[in-house]
Amino acid sequence: MEGNEKRIETKCIHSGYDSQFYNGSLIPPLFQTATFTFSSAEEGARRFASEEAGYVYSRLGNPTVEILEKRMAELEGAESALAFGSGMAAVSSVLLTLTKAGDHILCSQGVYGCTYGLLHLLEEKYQISHQFSPMSSREELMNCITPETTCIYIETPINPTLDIVDLEMVAAIGKEKQIPVVVDNTFCSPYLQNPIALGCDLVVHSATKYLCGHGDVIAGIVAGKKEWMDDIARQARKDIGGIISPFDAWLLLRGIKTLPIRLDRHSQQAAILANFLRDHEKIEQVYYPGFADHPQAKIVAKQMKQPGGIISFKIKGGQKEAQALMNHLSLIKMAVSLGDAETLIQHPATMTHAVVPKEEREKMGIEDNLLRLSVGLEAIEDIQADLSEALYQCK
Ligand SMILES: *Cc1c(COP(=O)(O)O)cnc(C)c1O
Repeated sequence: MEGNEKRIETKCIHSGYDSQFYNGSLIPPLFQTATFTFSSAEEGARRFASEEAGYVYSRLGNPTVEILEKRMAELEGAESALAFGSGMAAVSSVLLTLTKAGDHILCSQGVYGCTYGLLHLLEEKYQISHQFSPMSSREELMNCITPETTCIYIETPINPTLDIVDLEMVAAIGKEKQIPVVVDNTFCSPYLQNPIALGCDLVVHSATKYLCGHGDVIAGIVAGKKEWMDDIARQARKDIGGIISPFDAWLLLRGIKTLPIRLDRHSQQAAILANFLRDHEKIEQVYYPGFADHPQAKIVAKQMKQPGGIISFKIKGGQKEAQALMNHLSLIKMAVSLGDAETLIQHPATMTHAVVPKEEREKMGIEDNLLRLSVGLEAIEDIQADLSEALYQCK
């Protein structure tokens, strides 16, 4: 299948799979096996010597997983992709492959809580330093780059404040300085944002979120240029081994088929709720990349197809008021994930970003009255009524 000629909605359903090679099975088969048999001792020897293509052992490659990897490579416009057992396995595989002791990682101002934890672990155990930068201008970013910088790591929109980083601007600097630019594309998925088309080198995903879409899998993806992907496969996947299970890959293939229609609806509903919250007297501030007066609206328009399904907001008051609002909700569930059919709410200061010291957290814009909402697929009237009632109950 010549995926490049097709539109993304079609690629989500067909890329990476040709039923003709699988007895005509419409749906990719699940190869739930740890290992593969050889037809002769010589064949086994040739496969181990990489002289002959073929499966050996599922940590090194599995047909169901490869269908997913091919589909994700096409969706991200990447030369290749690899699937992992979690988003953090994907993030750690990339960072461990791109750095060695003494190197420096330059990061966007906010990163996912466990990515923050990993950066500290790399520093303590392997002397790999890091620095956070707002990445708000070329000059500012150039000033943060040191001769030891071997990786620029970006989240955009930044979790949970939804600040935006100009990917084209950072990619141009990465190219000039020959430093690979990595983007965590979890909040957007390839349907809303394509960092590789904008010049970035590698994309990571927590596939647990929008790619899966149904809250029943933990998985990760790395996609990008072959020169790094081959190293990631050899060093990180083969020898560190954070692989995805074939069944989880199979579930992801199923989830990805509906990614575009789900994200259209998530985005549409988030726009309605963002406006509802902004007009509410008990709300202090709403963070949503779709507002026309968002400080980076121009960059949003340039690099995101739609503003996505995540909203963060500050309730008037502090932690007490934020927690009271959560406790008064009934349809909206308290849980730390996003991108599911169910609308989810969480309190970053005590949940996803609890590991970040308060002072650092506040620099990232994570105050105690901030809440993050992942807008689901339920009827918008029901979600809004639940929020409205809980806000009313909130004293
Ligand atoms: C959830 C998440 C991760 C980590 O992914 P897991 O699948 O939970 O390991 C990384 N980055 C972002 C932006 C996330 O939301």
